[in-house]
Amino acid sequence: MADQSLQWAWRCHQGRRPDVLVKKQIPIPKCAPNGVLVKMLAMGVCHSDCLIIARPEPLPGCSEFTLGHEGAGEILEIGSENPNNLKIGDKVSIHIVPGRGKCRECTLGFRRLCKQPDNGGYGLEKDGFMQEVVAARADACVKIPEGVRIEDAAIAADAILTAFHAIKYTGEVGPEDTVAIIGLGGLGLNGVQIVKHLGVREENIYVMDKKAEAVKAAIRLGVKKENAFCSGDEEYEKKPMHEVLAERGVGIDKVVDFVGHDQTHITAQRIVRPAGTIVVVGLLSMQTPLLPGLMVTKCYTIKGTFAGEMEGLKECLNLLAKGVIRPQLSTASINGLPQVLKDLDDGKYEGRKVLLP
Ligand code: NAD
Ligand code: ZN
Repeated sequence: MADQSLQWAWRCHQGRRPDVLVKKQIPIPKCAPNGVLVKMLAMGVCHSDCLIIARPEPLPGCSEFTLGHEGAGEILEIGSENPNNLKIGDKVSIHIVPGRGKCRECTLGFRRLCKQPDNGGYGLEKDGFMQEVVAARADACVKIPEGVRIEDAAIAADAILTAFHAIKYTGEVGPEDTVAIIGLGGLGLNGVQIVKHLGVREENIYVMDKKAEAVKAAIRLGVKKENAFCSGDEEYEKKPMHEVLAERGVGIDKVVDFVGHDQTHITAQRIVRPAGTIVVVGLLSMQTPLLPGLMVTKCYTIKGTFAGEMEGLKECLNLLAKGVIRPQLSTASINGLPQVLKDLDDGKYEGRKVLLP
């Protein structure tokens, strides 16, 4: 008979080991007074997961933990404090880094960077969501509004919220801006929809990806064909995006880079207009070039951005409920996680892959 105190989990051991990701049985966690136990129903796979398992060295103090930082599920147990008045059976989306609200970063409005213990960090450095039952802080859980699919709610806390925060708050994108979204995968395709929702005019939205299918997906979401660039095309080699935009006399106010590769950072610095902003979301390259000649003469700002805040997660779930954001995703079984990560890294997916138990 199965041991009722155990559950299956995808455990990550960083540091270039052959057993970097193994499925094994671990104890079902206990519910803390300020916590909940959540039965996971859907879990998004982020490109960051590929990077986490490829870390050359484990982060200090986290040699083994459960992977997965996008998830939604059903409340199984509630601790005595219950600050959000959750009920058993409620369906919730879980914020990855809710923060504690007391440290310097929190008081500056960066709760997602909270340095206190128990700040969250699910699936980044502490046990995440690729397991059957997750212990989370109760105040990290947001009830999923009526009508929102569980797989959409699962990716709300990252593939949607990170894009939303990067564009609305870090980039401060507004209706008068010209905006370029670079990287049209799990995050970037939501980014395109968020830019439209913020009132940016269609003719002022530009996109770029190295994959033709990703560019086509953005066009299906309403991006004008003449504003969509595929850096993997032969044509692009002959005349890259920055040359086309220069010929058209277009400068980009806000470039949001969901790739973070040498090539995309160079493109971003070329297409951004004087006094514009480049928002860095993607993490693909370890180091990338700064172009001091352009940086000085155009005085652009480069801003990093990470995740989003709790209020933002609520906003994103409401946008899902209203149908403003319709995530491009497909589902698979949690049992296939290693192959899914490989396929994601090989660029085989359009949008997000969400795993079901
Ligand atoms: P994804 O694999 O779903 O999408 C990445 C897209 O970038 C793909 O469409 C791919 O074709 C494109 N791409 C890759 N290299 C390119 C290049 N050189 N030129 C043009 N396009 C290129 O990834 P995702 O899950 O959407 O994540 C995007 C990035 O954001 C990853 O680096 C991830 O680690 C990072 N991320 C950051 C945060 C944050 O808080 N800052 C949160 C989540 C993810
Ligand atoms: Zn992520």
